[in-house]
Amino acid sequence: MEQHNNEQKRDNETGKQPSVDFIRTFVAEDNRTKKWDGKVITRFPPEPNGFLHIGHAKSICLNFGIAAENDGGRCHLRFDDTNPVMEEARYVESIREDVRWMGWDWGKHLYYASDYFDQMYDYAVQLIKNGHAYVCDLTPEQMREYRGTLTSPGKESPYRYRSIEENLDLLDRMKAGEFEDGTRVLRAKIDISSANMNMRDPVMYRILHADHHRTGGKWRIYPTYDWAHGLEDSIEGITHSICTLEFENHRPLYDWYLDKLEVHHPQQIEFARLELTYTVMSKRKLLQLVEEKHVNGWDDPRIPTISGMRRRGYSPESIREFCRRIGVNKFNSTIDFALLEHCIREDLNKTSNRVMAVLKPLKVVIDNYPEEEEEWMDAVNNPEDPEAGTRKVPFSKVLYIEQDDFMEDPPKKFFRLAPGREVRLRYAYFVTCKDVVKDDKGHIVEIHCSYDPATRGGNAPDGRKVKSTIHWVSAAHALNAEVRLYDHLFNRENPEETADGEDFKSNLNPQSLKTLSGCMIEPCLKNTRPLDRFQFERLGYFCTDAESTKEKIVFNRTVTLRDTWAKIQKRGQIK
Ligand code: ATP
Ligand code: MG
Repeated sequence: MEQHNNEQKRDNETGKQPSVDFIRTFVAEDNRTKKWDGKVITRFPPEPNGFLHIGHAKSICLNFGIAAENDGGRCHLRFDDTNPVMEEARYVESIREDVRWMGWDWGKHLYYASDYFDQMYDYAVQLIKNGHAYVCDLTPEQMREYRGTLTSPGKESPYRYRSIEENLDLLDRMKAGEFEDGTRVLRAKIDISSANMNMRDPVMYRILHADHHRTGGKWRIYPTYDWAHGLEDSIEGITHSICTLEFENHRPLYDWYLDKLEVHHPQQIEFARLELTYTVMSKRKLLQLVEEKHVNGWDDPRIPTISGMRRRGYSPESIREFCRRIGVNKFNSTIDFALLEHCIREDLNKTSNRVMAVLKPLKVVIDNYPEEEEEWMDAVNNPEDPEAGTRKVPFSKVLYIEQDDFMEDPPKKFFRLAPGREVRLRYAYFVTCKDVVKDDKGHIVEIHCSYDPATRGGNAPDGRKVKSTIHWVSAAHALNAEVRLYDHLFNRENPEETADGEDFKSNLNPQSLKTLSGCMIEPCLKNTRPLDRFQFERLGYFCTDAESTKEKIVFNRTVTLRDTWAKIQKRGQIK
């Protein structure tokens, strides 16, 4: 846990204390009353049926965070792999990688729910022996009918009062694979007319002739989530079992199983899950987007998976800061995507080196600059971080600037380059546009400028001013790159809002990815490696793509420079 403690200290040093939410208050109270002998043991229990997303990050920061804030606390990483059908080993690997990348460490506490299958079975036998569980032969349809509805009580199953011996015998044969899928289940004998549907004799085991990624063909019955989850927590000695709000109604069942078994009984606490505008969060939907190729895999930079965000250029620090700022509460709400972007901007502003890159190049010839000459200008790597130092940027007769930084016939408020106008080239000289060259079709192919040698470094000795500074690269030195610009994956704040008969995919934004080739970048980026992060001056923050190579350099735009969150806050629309 040393890493956590250091992290905690660091957070304290920057004054960024985790806010004291209701769960932390709860834990503090338990510590005060010594309810768990002063122990705090939490867990993060993903089901390995997909990649982790930013919602999971909230849960990870909460569980690992609380453990780290309490002396001797710990957080387990537990794969809740009770459903053999959906689970794949590659998901297990990606989850481990993502949690570690986020900066958390489970130490030796890595567990698999499937390791407890034997113990769970023994517990089931114990419940049967105590008259608390029975094998039921109703078909799934009959069972649904017998369970009743929210407004009508259920009906007892005709198999409810089977003898203990018969139940034990049938469960044993279910386990051995003697019966077809769906023909029998083991149910808890609780209360078929309970107002809480979860308590109406819920299913504990179902027959499933499916091999499991860890236990192979050993089991032909698999436990349900509700039956398994509390047992997993109990077996591991968890003190606080933190889960999302939809499990609030399951808590009586969680408690019932553990009470009846008279075993270690953690406290379940529910909090509101994270929802974000302009995106979907459920693994089921993300899987659909991946399988139907609406996006390019689980690490597509447009989806809110941790691996997608990493590839897009998000840092672990920015995700943790986001989780700190949204806090934890009991009410479902949707967080503005702009807040997430604000957090990454804040982080990258402090940490990323600035470079110049031209995404849509326009050739500029400096007529009065000597043909063979080149100069290396001093450029500041990061004005926010003096330790980042400076670098040299080559200047020569032929340059590229952004097409958008030139207008032949500019409107009133356009202050960048135009015929007859003087602007500053960042870190270099003042230049004045003298001429525009066009092709047969009237498209501008290059412009000609003159430069003022006395303005080297960016200031005129006579004190004359220019209204704008634009970025550029030297054509002879620039490297070619592909740049991928991302926009929201969905057109709507709430992708679930659809016309009748449509689903969330009808709101996909066809413009969510724009690929620009032939971009020109500073030569200092020659050796850039995947996941390096930069600010391209005036354009935004960019990250070298996972598939970028020396031969083909590829960048992803993480986020633009325009901070809509800060603006909204300034206008006082958000407290
Ligand atoms: P999904 O609904 O996306 O499929 P899940 O809840 O089925 O997610 P699990 O693998 O079971 O995914 O989740 C592991 C842990 O992460 C659980 O404790 C769950 O409560 C938590 N979690 C999942 N989604 C969110 C979310 N959006 N916000 C906060 N916590 C979440
Ligand atoms: Mg789940």
